[in-house]
Parts: sequence; structure tokens; C-alpha cells
Amino acid sequence: MTPAAPMQTPHALPSYLNPDHLGPWGDYLQQVDRVTPYLGPLSRWVETLKRPKRILIVDVPIELDNGSMAHFEGYRVQHNTSRGPGKGGVRFHPEVTLSEVMALSAWMSVKNAAVNLPFGGAKGGIRVDPKTLSRGELERLTRRYTSEIGVIIGPTKDIPAPDVNTNAQIMAWMMDTYSMNQGATHTAVVTGKPIALGGSLGRQEATGRGVFTVGCLAAQHIGLAIPGARIAVQGFGNVGGIAAQLFTQAGAVLVAVQDHEGSLYQPAGLDAQALWQHVQTHGSVAGLEGAETVARETFWDTPCDVMIPAAMEQQITAENAHRIQARLVIEGANGPTTPAADDILRERNILVVPDVIANAGGVTVSYFEWVQDFSSFFWSEDDVNARLVRIMTEAFEGIWQVAQAHQVSLRTATFITACTRILQARELRGLYP
Ligand code: NAD
Repeated sequence: MTPAAPMQTPHALPSYLNPDHLGPWGDYLQQVDRVTPYLGPLSRWVETLKRPKRILIVDVPIELDNGSMAHFEGYRVQHNTSRGPGKGGVRFHPEVTLSEVMALSAWMSVKNAAVNLPFGGAKGGIRVDPKTLSRGELERLTRRYTSEIGVIIGPTKDIPAPDVNTNAQIMAWMMDTYSMNQGATHTAVVTGKPIALGGSLGRQEATGRGVFTVGCLAAQHIGLAIPGARIAVQGFGNVGGIAAQLFTQAGAVLVAVQDHEGSLYQPAGLDAQALWQHVQTHGSVAGLEGAETVARETFWDTPCDVMIPAAMEQQITAENAHRIQARLVIEGANGPTTPAADDILRERNILVVPDVIANAGGVTVSYFEWVQDFSSFFWSEDDVNARLVRIMTEAFEGIWQVAQAHQVSLRTATFITACTRILQARELRGLYP
């Protein structure tokens, strides 16, 4: 008698989704569970959201300047492509993990659908501290990584962009490497490029501008005036640094900042422009003259009206959510608040504008850049900014209505809007074969 074939459990999770080691991916799965009851008949497709479509892990070997060899681990994850090509940044960080990149790719699917861009979600990363590499080593690393993931990226397949520790120069190297391998210049394979190579005006500031735009709308809804509002910002890079400057230009007072090296507190207000210049020169907010340096942990106790986490995931947790004094949290970073912390903030009547809408300004202008590259027709900065504000405002106000209608958090409302769009597309396309 032939032994029976092992039973196939219909929803058995692949091993890399081991629930004991989920990290930010675990946070994302809980967020999906929270939205499922609101998806109606589409919930039969919800399993699609709980596993990435495609995961690529690559070895990235380079020769260092001293002649030795080094190997780095790289990832590209395409979470969902039901609504269009994958889209999402590339992160260079010594602690990048597959779980983190999976979560970031899934949040890109949700974000792109939330603002109704014709993209799916993807994300990439290399486990490396780029600060330890020379410029030449960084270029070789970027080019080899691009070649390795070249089999799955492309202007109509998956379009990378900058994220933590990557920038316009790195996008230029990625674009060049992909183009050399293809034998033709494909500017639309990445966004966040230098303007001289098909980048868009306004792209660099777009995420911070989007954070500012939806932050002002949320503040208006809860009767908080931005002029005079005290803001605290964690992460003073592309997102936090730009958002802080826009808020202070609108009359807010920057009372605290924290980055990987330092934490500053100044109740009378820090000069955001001067701090930006200081960071460009010294690489950190630490050491700014005239500002009081405080212990890392006290950042969460800052007396403030608005808190903007704009650094990394899992910063606001069940341990520190009780201490936050703000009325409004605007998530510049991806995944900064754990689901347990979300519940605490909601109980305490602190409004959270979630990452999947708050920081969608960057990918919105990335979409504009991609459209401009394909049409070879470039827009003025005023056009870019006006279209950005229009898209962000419409998306935010729509999500606000959904939150009111269902009496749910803005995060669940954004997931309702986005997951409905993704799963409608999934259902209309049907399952192949
Ligand atoms: P960045 O590299 O320009 O800046 C990161 C900032 O975070 C730096 O100030 C760094 O010192 C700080 N930081 C890093 N680790 C920290 C820690 N442990 N504690 C405190 N501060 C720390 O990166 P960015 O582009 O500004 O990205 C920040 C966040 O925003 C990330 O979560 C990223 O995924 C998200 N995001 C970025 C964009 C974009 O367009 N750049 C778009 C959407 C979302």
C-alpha cells in the first residue's frame, strides 16, 4: 500500500513567517487582523495580504579598498502587485532584517493604495553600516546589489527609491547599473534621482511636506492651532528634518529632537534651519551650540502638543506610550508605533496619524517622477507641490470620514480604504491559472 501523502494545511505559513520571530512583520499582521472584520466579502482574499508575493535574498560581495573581500546580505521583497508594479525604497542599515523589509514592503502596498497610486508595494535593504564604507565601496555595493536584484526590478515591474541611509546619488548608481545591464537608459527604474537624471523637483522635500500637510489637517480636526504648538521630532533626516522646518515656518515651536546620537530639549524652541545645517555638517543633532542635551529616554516625556516619530520602527511601545504628553502623533517613520501602543494612545485620546497616510508624500512625488520620466515632460515645483497637497488632502479627508463612520482609529480607517482597493483589484483579476 502506498503511504498517504502528507496532509497539506491550506493556510500553513512558510517557515520565514515563524510567528516567534516576526518583529515589525508581526505588527503588520496584527494591523491586518484588525481591518479584516471591515472588509465584507473581500475578506475571503485577506490571506493574500498576509504573505509577500515574492522574496529575493541576495549575497552582495564587494572588494574593499584594502583588497579584502566582504559579503553583505541584501533583500528585495515584493509584497503585492495587484494594483501595479512594486514600489518602495531601499534601506542600508546594519540591523536590517528580512522581517523588517517584509513589513516595510507591506506598508508600501497599503500606503500606495491609501493615496490611490497605481502601484503595489515593495521594499529592499542591505544589512550594512554605510558609514563604515568609502565612497568607492558604497558605489560597488550599490551596483552589485542592483545587478543581483535586476532580475525582478524594472520600470514596469518594481521601482526602488531612497529610504534610510540611501539618497539621490545611490539612486543614480542604481539607475546606471540597471541601464548598463539592459543596454539602454531607463530613468524610470528608480525614483528619488538627481534632477539632472530625470528626478522630480520637490521629491526630496515631499515626505516631510506630506507629513506637514496631513499634520495640519489633523490638528484642525482636533482644534489644535499650529502657530505656537510645541513639537518634538525623533529622527532629523530627510523626513523629520524637513517636516520640522515646515512646522516651525508655520509658527510651531520645535522643543525637542532626537537622532541616533543625541537628544536635545529647548522649551523656548530650537532653530530648525540652523539645526538642519548643523546635521549636514556634523552628521547628527548632537553638539548643537546653545541647546540642552538630555538623556535618550526622557525624549518620550517631553511636554509637547505634537510628536513626530521620524526615525525607525517600534519606537512607541507599551513601555513608553503612557508617557507621551502630545495630543497628536504624526508618524513620519514607517511602523514607529506597535499595536499595543496604538491601543494605549487611543485610550488616552491621543490622535495618531498613521505612517500609511502621514508619510505617503514621498511615494506620491515618486509617482510624479515616474510619470514625468515616462512622458519625458517635466513639471514645475509649484505644480508638483500643488498636486501633492491635493492628493494628500483628498486621501486624508476620505480616511477621516471612514474613521468617523466606523468609529475606528485612523490606522484602521486607512487600512479599510487601502485593503479594500487592493483586494478589489485581486478579485477583479482573479486567480491565475
Ligand atoms: P534618514 O536616513 O534621512 O534619517 C533617519 C534619521 O533617523 C536620522 O536623523 C537618524 O539619526 C535617525 N535615527 C536612526 N536611528 C535612530 C534611533 N535608533 N533613534 C533615534 N533616531 C534614529 O531617513 P529618512 O529618509 O528620513 O527616513 C526616516 C523614516 O521615514 C524611516 O522609517 C523611513 O522608512 C521613513 N520614510 C522615508 C521616506 C523618504 O522619502 N525618505 C518616505 C516614507 C517614509
